[in-house]
Amino acid sequence: MSSNTSEPRTDLAHHGAEGAPPVSNFIRQAIDAAGVTSALRTRFPPEPNGYLHIGHAKSICLNFGLALDYGGRCNMRFDDTNPVKEDQEYVDSILDSVRWLGFDWVTPDETNLYYASDYFETFYQCAEHLIAAGHAYVDSQSADEIRQGRGTLTEPGTDSVWRNRPADESLSLLREMRAGKHPEGAHVLRARIDMRSPNLNLRDPILYRVRFAHHHRTGDAWCLYPMYDFAHPISDALEHITHSLCTLEFEDHRPLYDWLLERLAEGGLLTRPLPRQIEFARLNLAHTVTSKRKLQELVKSGTVDAWDDPRMPTLVGLRRRGFTPASIRLFCERIGVSKAHQWVEPAVLDQALRDDLDDKAARATAVLDPLKLELVNWPAETEEPCTAPIHPHHPERGLRHFALTRELWIERDDFAIVPPKGFFRLSPGNRVRLRYGVVIECTGHETDAQGRVTRVLATVLPDSKSGTPGADQYKVKGNIHWVSATQGIEAEVRMYDRLFTDPNPDSGGKNYLDSLNPSAKRVLKAFVEPSLGQAQAEDRFQFERHGYFVADRIDHRADRPVFNLAVTLKDSRGGNPKG
Ligand code: ATP
Ligand code: MG
Repeated sequence: MSSNTSEPRTDLAHHGAEGAPPVSNFIRQAIDAAGVTSALRTRFPPEPNGYLHIGHAKSICLNFGLALDYGGRCNMRFDDTNPVKEDQEYVDSILDSVRWLGFDWVTPDETNLYYASDYFETFYQCAEHLIAAGHAYVDSQSADEIRQGRGTLTEPGTDSVWRNRPADESLSLLREMRAGKHPEGAHVLRARIDMRSPNLNLRDPILYRVRFAHHHRTGDAWCLYPMYDFAHPISDALEHITHSLCTLEFEDHRPLYDWLLERLAEGGLLTRPLPRQIEFARLNLAHTVTSKRKLQELVKSGTVDAWDDPRMPTLVGLRRRGFTPASIRLFCERIGVSKAHQWVEPAVLDQALRDDLDDKAARATAVLDPLKLELVNWPAETEEPCTAPIHPHHPERGLRHFALTRELWIERDDFAIVPPKGFFRLSPGNRVRLRYGVVIECTGHETDAQGRVTRVLATVLPDSKSGTPGADQYKVKGNIHWVSATQGIEAEVRMYDRLFTDPNPDSGGKNYLDSLNPSAKRVLKAFVEPSLGQAQAEDRFQFERHGYFVADRIDHRADRPVFNLAVTLKDSRGGNPKG
C-alpha cells in the first residue's frame, strides 16, 4: 500500500511535466539559434560549503535538463577553490541530493565528475602565462589601498604603484607566494585591464591571493588560492562547457569572463570554441531564506533540528518533509527560466507536490486530534470488517481492511456541543456517516471538570453499513473519519508550516530571525488505521481529509510510526480542507 515514487529515467528528459514537450525559454532559444546539438555541455558548479537548497534545484534542473533534452552532457563540478568553508560532508550530501533529484553525471563512457581543485596547477600555469604576456602583475598594496584605488561607480579607479612592475619581478614574487614565503595579504596577483573601466570588475581584478589554509582535498599542497572569477571561466573552458549558466549577479562579471578566456586562448593555454556565459534570474522562495550562511545559522543556533529538518528549504529538508523528486522537477518546470527577478510563493511548490502525489499516494485514515467516540448500542466484542479503496481512482490497487468496534477515535473538531451554522458533523441529536462504516446518531457526551469534552456517545442506526442495500435510506450531510480505538495504531505526527511569517524575511535590511514562525513545527499524538503498521520509511500517503504525509525517513519504526505533514489537501490559507 505504499506510494510508488520510483520513476523511470526516460521521464527526466522533460524534467517535470512528464510527457509534455519542454517549455521554451531564452536559453533554449539561444541554443537553438546557434544550432548547438550533441556538443552541448553544461555544468552544475556548487561550492561545497553547505547543503543544496531549492534555489540550487532550479539550476540543477536547468543544467541537467538541457543536457538531457539536447542529447548533451552536464558535468557535476565542485567549485572548491576557497579552502576556508568547504568540507567533504558537503561534497557527499550534494552528490546525494543531485542523484536524488533524478539526475546523473555518469555516462557509459564518461564520469563527468570534476573538482576545480584538480585544476590548481593549471590555474597557476595560466597565471604565470598572463604575467609573462603582460596581462597580470603582482600588487603589493594593502587590501585597503587596493579598495581605495578601485574608485566607485561614479569615479574612475587609480593605477597601483605596482602596476608597471616588470614581468620577471612579478613572476618571481608569484613563485615565492606559491612557496609560502610571503604572509597573507602582503601581495596579490591582479589582471592588468583598465582602472578607468565603467565596469568595476574590469579594474584590475584580483586573481590570486595567499591563504595558509588546509584544503579538504589538496591538504597543505597550496597556500595560493585563485579567485572565483579566475577559476570559473578556466574550469569551464577546460571541460569544454558550451553554455555556462549562472545567476544574474554575474552579468557584470561576464566581460571579465570573456577577457580571461580570450587572453588564455590567444596564448594557446585554452582551446576554442570558448564557453559562453548566460545569466538567468535566481529563484527566491517566499517565507524562507536560501543563503547558505543563514541556513547554517539556523542549524547552529538550534532554531531547526538539522540541515534536513523538514522546515528547511534544503533538498534534504524537503525530502524529509515528503517532497518527491518529481514534484521538485515539476516546480522548476512551472517557475520557468527568465531574466526577471522572481519571488515564488511556497503555494506553488506545495501544489506541485499535490499534483504529483494525488495519483500516486495510497489513501489512509489518521485521527490527529483524537476524541473518544463510544457506540453505545454496539457489543464490546463485535468487530465488523470494513474496507476502503487504497486509491479511489485505481480500483486495481485493491482495498484497505479495518474493523468497526465499539470504541473509536474521531477528530475533536468533528464534534460540537453547540454546532455553528453550517456544521454538519457530529453534535447532539445529529446524524453522520462514519466513513466506510455506519450511520450514527449522537446521543450525548461527557466532559471533565474544565468542561472539555472527553467522550462522545452515539447509537448505530440499523442496516446503515456502507455498501449494503439499506445504506441509502439514510440521508446525512456529514461524513467523518475514524480509527478503531482497539485496532488503531498510535503514531507521532509532525505538523509543519512555513518557517517565517514574513514573506521576505531577509529583504530590506530585516533580521530574518525576527519573523520566525513559532508554530512551524507541532508534534501530535495521533491514531492511524492498522494498515499503516506496514508503512516503510519514506512511503507517502494521503491521510483522508487532512493532506499528504510521509513516514519519516530517519525516525519512523514499524512499532513507533512517525509521519510528517508534507502538504495539506488544499492551500489552508485559501479554504478549509475539511468538508
Ligand atoms: P550562497 O550564496 O548561498 O553560498 P551560491 O549561489 O554561492 O549560494 P553555489 O554553491 O555557488 O551557491 O551555487 C551553485 C549553483 O547554483 C550556481 O551556478 C548558482 O548560480 C546556482 N544557484 C544558487 N542559488 C540559486 C538560486 N536561488 N536560484 C537559482 N540558481 C541558484
Ligand atoms: Mg557561489
